[in-house]
Amino acid sequence: MQGLVIKSTGSWYLVHGEDDRDYQCRIKGKFRIKGIQTTNPVAVGDQVDFEMEPNSENGVIYKLHPRKNYIIRKSINLSKQAQIIAANIDEAFLVVTLASPRTSLGFIDRFLVTAEAYSIPSVLIFNKLDLYNEDGLEVLAEYKNIYESLGYPCYEVSATEGTNMPLIESLLKDKTTLFSGHSGVGKSSLINVLLPDRNIKTGEISESSDKGQHTTTFAEMHTLPFGGYLIDSPGIRELGIYDIKPEELSHYFREMRNLMHQCKFHNCRHINEPSCAVLDAVKTGEIESSRYESYLSMYHGNETRA
Ligand code: GDP
Ligand code: ZN
Repeated sequence: MQGLVIKSTGSWYLVHGEDDRDYQCRIKGKFRIKGIQTTNPVAVGDQVDFEMEPNSENGVIYKLHPRKNYIIRKSINLSKQAQIIAANIDEAFLVVTLASPRTSLGFIDRFLVTAEAYSIPSVLIFNKLDLYNEDGLEVLAEYKNIYESLGYPCYEVSATEGTNMPLIESLLKDKTTLFSGHSGVGKSSLINVLLPDRNIKTGEISESSDKGQHTTTFAEMHTLPFGGYLIDSPGIRELGIYDIKPEELSHYFREMRNLMHQCKFHNCRHINEPSCAVLDAVKTGEIESSRYESYLSMYHGNETRA
């Protein structure tokens, strides 16, 4: 029978079968991805074939279907191994806030670039709309202007007041969506509105904003009552860890991708080369300076922390 992996503990997998029932499964045999070593061969979002173990309620996964995409993070202890967080993601929602706390442009760019590298379309969700004063609304307009002109849809919501939540539901319907964002932006609060039957602990913003506050090791996939799945990523940094070679970086900045073939040098780094179409566009303002700064910062391997 075919099924969808909706939960993973590393050794056991919960699979939603075609018959609409959930099965506890383990894995038989070895599944490998070319080029990388992974600690977990199967992840949430994977389509698998499984069969029942004799005289048992449990199943055995024996086949993994090809993935359209997947996200990984490096294993913290075993640097050569990667952990697959989730597979077959239709879109990524980055939840950001402009007040308590404000998400930086650098952080947003790092996320968007990483999602581009994974071939996952991104949407920006500005939460805590109820807290924005006049200045906040101005900043919101500024942020939206930057990202909408690049083709990233932007929506503002308030989890506590329910503002625009029906719109968010319509975006999520029948899709597999990855939910990401800094700790404290209201991911759990939004998920609680979307999944009233689950009660996910929401936390106060921690001073140290450290890892491990309410991070679960493996991502969990929630079934949305109106259709579709929501993947609650254990933490945003994981997605940012993806290695992009500096010389590939401009492919994932949408506004640079369109211009770079006009540079004089085919291997232009867009840093100080003559006749660089990207630098020209930064000068005229066609490329937003904050975006270019994010490019430089990522090019030089600087970590962006908001
Ligand atoms: P998470 O770390 O991203 O899961 O964030 P939480 O959902 O735990 O929310 C962090 C804090 O922000 C909590 O105190 C929430 O009550 C608060 N919060 C979440 N959404 C909103 C919102 O739309 N408006 C306001 N004013 N506070 C919110
Ligand atoms: Zn150039």
